[in-house]
Amino acid sequence: MNDADILTAFHDRRAHYETYLQANGIAVQTCPGCGFPTLAERGAFEICIICSWEDDGQDDHAKSMLAQLEITGVRISGPNGSLTLQENRLNIGRLLESYADLMDGETDYDVARVLRTIAFYHERRTDIESRMTGEEHIQDHIWMEWKEVKKDLLMALVVPKE
Ligand SMILES: [Zn+2]
Repeated sequence: MNDADILTAFHDRRAHYETYLQANGIAVQTCPGCGFPTLAERGAFEICIICSWEDDGQDDHAKSMLAQLEITGVRISGPNGSLTLQENRLNIGRLLESYADLMDGETDYDVARVLRTIAFYHERRTDIESRMTGEEHIQDHIWMEWKEVKKDLLMALVVPKE
């Protein structure tokens, strides 16, 4: 897929998930960085468990809350550094595509199942974090375990082709 195809896939995926969430009255928000239903609320600087984008409020038609502050003369470096929303979408899109190729599958479009998958890995990560003391070295096993969650989650979001 080229960049345009990856972005189209992102928009399709997000719209599909959003339609389901709204139709079923589920109070989960889609992430502007990957399109998956991962956020409890918008603009709360929540870090997406799937793409690691930190939700500073920016979206297709909204600037980040920090950019709004900049207009008033306050200058703060954003939580995502120099990474733009579009670059983030392309990065996660390429990663998903590589897993889909590797496993000869496709990204899961079954929203109920996607929500269960995300909840499962969210719990797993919370469990790991509850066992951390904050004193761990970055090479400690527990950090490896923490990082593995993201990889396992991405693989769990790829399902066999219909
Ligand atoms: Zn995300």
